[in-house]
Amino acid sequence: MEPRAAREELPACACCGEPAVVCQPVTRRHLCGTHLIRDVEERVLATIQEYGQIHSGDRIAVGLSGGKDSTALLVILSRLLPAWPGSSLVAITVDEGIAGYRADTIRAAESLTKRLGVEHRIVTFRDLIGDNLDTLLIGRETQACTICGILRKKTLADAAQAAGATAIATGHNLDDEAQSVLMNAFRGDLPRLVRTTGTGTSTAFLPRIKPLMVIPEKEIASYLFVLDLFSVLPECPYTKYALRAEVRTLLSDYECRHPGTMQHLIESKRTIERYCAGTPVMEPLHRCLECGDPCSGDLCQVCRLRHSLLE
Ligand code: SF4
Ligand code: ZN
Repeated sequence: MEPRAAREELPACACCGEPAVVCQPVTRRHLCGTHLIRDVEERVLATIQEYGQIHSGDRIAVGLSGGKDSTALLVILSRLLPAWPGSSLVAITVDEGIAGYRADTIRAAESLTKRLGVEHRIVTFRDLIGDNLDTLLIGRETQACTICGILRKKTLADAAQAAGATAIATGHNLDDEAQSVLMNAFRGDLPRLVRTTGTGTSTAFLPRIKPLMVIPEKEIASYLFVLDLFSVLPECPYTKYALRAEVRTLLSDYECRHPGTMQHLIESKRTIERYCAGTPVMEPLHRCLECGDPCSGDLCQVCRLRHSLLE
């Protein structure tokens, strides 16, 4: 979905007849700014309700990188929050320690939380493991995203616990979810494919919810554009090492030629989840022998990483 400025003249909004600002790629439905905002927020609310992701009295820790997905997530949740009386939000930004990248997004996160009146906490990899990511990665740059992902998940989970959160919300969108399905399929990692549902049903961890998981990335960009919250931020210098970057290009190209592919991938995953229910793939996790966190082997990923980084 592209902003009007980037396209030829668009027809009228399918809901009100006002000039449209976007065209949704799968349905080819044109929407004005007001109806785009309403449509996105209604679909997020429906997702939250369908999976019971948020309840009255919940305290939701929102992982806020300052990028577009987490920005949209915090804006949408702060607008929808009155639907769950007694609930509250706390935004948590993880500073990995990446020179020339993270400072700008932290500034964006600070300004957004101030504008929305949401409590904001910043936590660092240094707090967790004693060093910043740039230093940890010397000589291991190609493993950047694997190491970063493991440490970020743990840093965010610890900060959410400390903030008294009842669930962690992340800004994963439809594209991210479809990419994860494909990446786990490429790796042949069925347990991971079915365990990362984002529906808030995990019992081993603080529940993790992904309220934007049905919204395509382009619609999130348009949502922010209409609200005048769209900004271009620097890209992480380690992105070039990410397998996800390759999968994103592959899938975006395919989606352009065959709209609906990403949605179909997610539906396939749900079907696999249903078939796996009650099988060994879905067996409960163990506890890490060193830190007690839930894990699938003797040690959790963070403890294993700590050993390998210290060797
Ligand atoms: Fe971390 Fe990789 Fe994302 Fe950079 S691109 S923030 S290294 S996961
Ligand atoms: Zn551990």
